[in-house]
Amino acid sequence: MTLDIPTVMLALVLGFLLLALQMWAARRSVLRQTELQIWSHGCWSLLGGFALLPARLFIPEWISVLGANCLLLLGLTLLDAALYRHLIDRELPRWVGGQCAVSCAVVVLTLGEPTALRATLYSLLFAAALAPGLRLLIRHGWQQGGSIRTVALTLGTGALMSLARSVDAAMRPEAYGELMRGDLFQGLFYLLCFLSLLAAGFGFVLACFERVARRMEELATTDGLTGCANRSTTDALLAHSLERGRREGAPVAFALMDLDHFKQINDRYGHAAGDQALRAFAAAVKLRLRGSDVLGRMGGEEFGLVLPMTDCPGAQRLVEQVREAVAALRLQSDDGQVFTITVSAGVVVAASDSGLSASRVYMLADRELYRAKELGRNRVEIAATPIVIGTPMMAAVAGAGVPGEER
Ligand code: GH3
Ligand code: MG
Ligand code: MG
Repeated sequence: MTLDIPTVMLALVLGFLLLALQMWAARRSVLRQTELQIWSHGCWSLLGGFALLPARLFIPEWISVLGANCLLLLGLTLLDAALYRHLIDRELPRWVGGQCAVSCAVVVLTLGEPTALRATLYSLLFAAALAPGLRLLIRHGWQQGGSIRTVALTLGTGALMSLARSVDAAMRPEAYGELMRGDLFQGLFYLLCFLSLLAAGFGFVLACFERVARRMEELATTDGLTGCANRSTTDALLAHSLERGRREGAPVAFALMDLDHFKQINDRYGHAAGDQALRAFAAAVKLRLRGSDVLGRMGGEEFGLVLPMTDCPGAQRLVEQVREAVAALRLQSDDGQVFTITVSAGVVVAASDSGLSASRVYMLADRELYRAKELGRNRVEIAATPIVIGTPMMAAVAGAGVPGEER
């Protein structure tokens, strides 16, 4: 079996043309991201390089060698740049650009050398050009999920194939005397190396798409200022927790918290200080939550706290701790003034057999919050038990507590 190198190269050029067009189309969509644009430029550069390699059948060889190898090196360096942007949001370090320039200089200086020596040397340079991106993929990309791992594996395969070609050219220089001559190993190395780059490109598009999807999901479910769940997510999670508590026989607590005299905070210290206070409040509350608890921003300076598997004493203890922690916060305005905030809270605990709906729980918590405000603010009010809703079931709001869960 042998592989006709010009045919292999034509197939690869067509493959890369497809990828480059795909990326060009993606640039105009929701995936309009810098890293994708950089990868796309890398793709065009690689395409030019791959097209110039077999072009030596029609143009002077030195132009083909120089143009193809420099474009390939530039293309691989652009892939590194895209990975730096995607994985650590940084520009390509200067030393990587320098490495590309030195590699191109080596190509210029070795133009007159025999083809086998050039194949050994240039294959080494290609593997070295992929190394910075690979290092980054292993250090920062591996834990980021499937698509970016595919990029790491395919680029790694490309680098390995390039190294293998370098060794093969050094050991069998006679097979590399003429680049376009049909040779099984030479053909296979080309094929695998270039196919790896193609696959890495498709993997990278997918990784960018995954990132956009994650970001959109985040925007749809969380509040941008505090990072808490937004209102609709909190409502849905409260309903879900109540349903689950019903099935599992566990109480669910809900606390509605509202910052006291917040309008005055804004008026005295400025809106930016108010925003900072909201962020500090959310961070202070989150510090005290379990993994299953949810803090949501219900609007303005009002927050909801969903506490699954939490009984009355547990909920009261936690919300009291939150109140104390918030009162102890020392905040600073832009002009250096130190100020404090306080919070009032209304708490409701729905026993597993209470039959309370999420909207009813919210309403009852709001009533308790109103009471806390009326009674002087900076305090926690908990709904009196039992709450009776409809017939025939009487709902004891005070839950029995959950075995194994300490609150
Ligand atoms: P009370 O103790 O009765 O709750 O008094 P309050 O001033 O906190 O009451 P009110 O609900 O009337 O005022 C809420 C204020 O919260 C009004 C608004 O200026 C401020 N606010 C709402 N959302 C934001 C925000 O995102 N950032 C900032 N800085 N302020 C906000
Ligand atoms: Mg308020
Ligand atoms: Mg309010």
